[in-house]
Amino acid sequence: MNRPEPTREAALRRLTAFVPDAGKYAGRRNFDFGPDDRSNVSTLSPYLRTRLVTEKEVCLAVLERFARSTVDKFLQEVAWRTYWKGWLEMRPEVWSRYRLDLEQREHSPEHERAIRGETGIECFDFWVRELIETGYLHNHARMWFAGIWIFTLRLPWQMGADFFLRHLLDGDPASNTLSWRWVAGLHTTGKHYLARASNIKRFTGGRFDPAGQLDESAPALPPDGEFERRDLDFPENPRPGARLGQLLIPDDLTPIGMPQVESTAGWFPEDSRVLGDPSEKVVDFHRGALDDALSRTGGPRLRGRLSESVRDWATREKLDAIIMTRPTVGPWRDLFAGFDPGVPVHHFVSDWDRQLWPHATAGFFRLKKRLPKFFDALVSGQRSLF
Ligand SMILES: Cc1cc2nc3c(=O)[nH]c(=O)nc-3n(C[C@H](O)[C@H](O)[C@H](O)COP(=O)(O)OP(=O)(O)OC[C@H]3O[C@@H](n4cnc5c(N)ncnc54)[C@H](O)[C@@H]3O)c2cc1C
Repeated sequence: MNRPEPTREAALRRLTAFVPDAGKYAGRRNFDFGPDDRSNVSTLSPYLRTRLVTEKEVCLAVLERFARSTVDKFLQEVAWRTYWKGWLEMRPEVWSRYRLDLEQREHSPEHERAIRGETGIECFDFWVRELIETGYLHNHARMWFAGIWIFTLRLPWQMGADFFLRHLLDGDPASNTLSWRWVAGLHTTGKHYLARASNIKRFTGGRFDPAGQLDESAPALPPDGEFERRDLDFPENPRPGARLGQLLIPDDLTPIGMPQVESTAGWFPEDSRVLGDPSEKVVDFHRGALDDALSRTGGPRLRGRLSESVRDWATREKLDAIIMTRPTVGPWRDLFAGFDPGVPVHHFVSDWDRQLWPHATAGFFRLKKRLPKFFDALVSGQRSLF
């Protein structure tokens, strides 16, 4: 698999190439044919993660070519991303607890062996190398990997989630943390995901067969407590007339189409350890995606400390206020916790998120049953989708 180029142009090329295959997605998506053949999935995730291309654009492109019923499965998978984001927005403590737990975990020789790909389980060791080299793993491989990490290698799930987040180009605090919790049996109590040798053999087309090497009967991890669910508080859009500066960060690079936006700038930390110490490849992709967005809107990438550099820019541009897409729960929200650029900061939340997140209160089913109506309204161009 070629390393994706961090540009919107490359994202749109990939989308155009995938759309004709979207009708076959449901029947083929579970096969991991290996890094040289990703023809059965979209590989759009790094672009969706940074929103160089949005969920709405991707779904509309697919729906322009196929009837909804033909591409239901694909649309649902995109909605899983939205579901995890909405679910975590309502329970930010799941993220902060995970970060705290992670700090308390000691590195062990078993953990070192696992992240060096030296466990002796051929498929697992292969995925470690694939992840480090390409920044991508197929969804099924992610499930098997997490299942083997937790139930066969008996390593802490938090360390596995951290390893993914450091190396995945699409590394997302919601999809990643909550998928690891789902595999462990912590998302849906009592339900966990065990990697089975026969399943791996079948869906890798016989590339791997770890028969006899996996624990296929381990129980789910014990529950780790209740997390309070908060209401979503969506911001109001700023009043007309103010001279706004738009601040872009790779958490969401969608340009905010408001007439009051007079100026745009981007910010990326000089020291990426504040983002959870992602790999160089991840940093290059996310910083490159930001630079690509800025090359289209115009405007500088600010350097230096967050509040100070944005404050200098706001003064230079004589801005009344700053507008930015609200950073989602995760490293970007944490970074902006004490943000003080000296002018008011308005937060923007897309219509997509506003309309779907409120249905992520419980299990995915609650959101899923609303999707047909949602997508029909999307195709017919209605602004209010419910
Ligand atoms: C343990 C584990 C960790 C994961 N970590 C991440 C992560 O950090 N970031 C991330 O974007 N996805 C994560 N996923 C979800 C999923 O594996 C990837 O989104 C998907 O494999 C990306 O490849 P694709 O673009 O080819 O997907 P496709 O199959 O082509 O799907 C299209 C899009 O739908 C979304 N999507 C598909 N499946 C899922 C899913 N199960 N959950 C959420 N969104 C989905 C993605 O945005 C994806 O780009 C994780 C899954 C597991 C089991």
